[in-house]
Amino acid sequence: MTGPGRLVLVGTPIGNLGDLSPRAVEALAAADLVCCEDTRRTGRLLQHAGVRAPGLLVVNDHTEAGAVERVLARLAAGEVVTVVSDAGMPGISDPGEQLVHAAVEAGFAVEVVPGPSAAVTALVASALPAGRFVFEGFLPRKGSGRTERLAAIAAERRTVVLYEAPHRVARTIDDLTAACGPDRRVVLARELTKLHEEVWRGTLGDAVAHLAEREPRGEHVVVLDGAPPPPEVDDPAIVEALAVARAEGASTRDAVAAVASELGVARRRVYDLATGS
Ligand code: SAM
Repeated sequence: MTGPGRLVLVGTPIGNLGDLSPRAVEALAAADLVCCEDTRRTGRLLQHAGVRAPGLLVVNDHTEAGAVERVLARLAAGEVVTVVSDAGMPGISDPGEQLVHAAVEAGFAVEVVPGPSAAVTALVASALPAGRFVFEGFLPRKGSGRTERLAAIAAERRTVVLYEAPHRVARTIDDLTAACGPDRRVVLARELTKLHEEVWRGTLGDAVAHLAEREPRGEHVVVLDGAPPPPEVDDPAIVEALAVARAEGASTRDAVAAVASELGVARRRVYDLATGS
């Protein structure tokens, strides 16, 4: 069943109000209900846009699940419900995802009025490869979740984009340095689109020193270069590893499988060397 209501996600500025698009203003003006994280903040945005406040519904990390039924009921009544967050794109480290999921499941149309996102803004400013990248959002604050994520990031070949609160940036950079080594390139993009915008580029080792010099202020995005490619494995190294596996009693088949996985090379190549074909 497709209902007549529409859920519209609207991107809002990440600092500079001049980035509020004319389409975003239109979408806010056409809304019957605006879901937002903070009514005062969104109230100011609506005022700036010259939009008379329709109904506002607080949807934050704690209330999003509970808001789903109310939003679905408004959509079923044929209304247009827009979703904004405090800054940037809703659904990106912000509420929105659960509402989109529920609306799609229930057969309602979902539209997006795109706007800035700190992740993409920092990535393109970083001068690091932007063709393929991974968005990690906020790291878990502690425990095995954090350790595992740091290990995965250290091995990741694509550029990694992370969000971080100012008072945790130094610790995150310390942990990334321990996981990736001090030579990995990193970019700290802070206060993007705002008066004190700064894009600092260097290595993780430099970043530790940079952050020790002064208290990090304002919102930060950390953009980390991908891991370097593993060193080339030459044929003699494969032959030697095969000899070791065989000496330990492995069959040709098992030795090929073990060496291919251990050295990260194609099984066919190891097989050919093992059989002299
Ligand atoms: N939905 C937002 C987006 O699309 O970018 C992200 C919201 S998330 C709760 C907030 C985080 O985004 C901040 O902690 C910071 O890492 C990043 N951020 C948001 N605005 C920023 C800005 N102007 N400059 C740098 N980082 C920013």
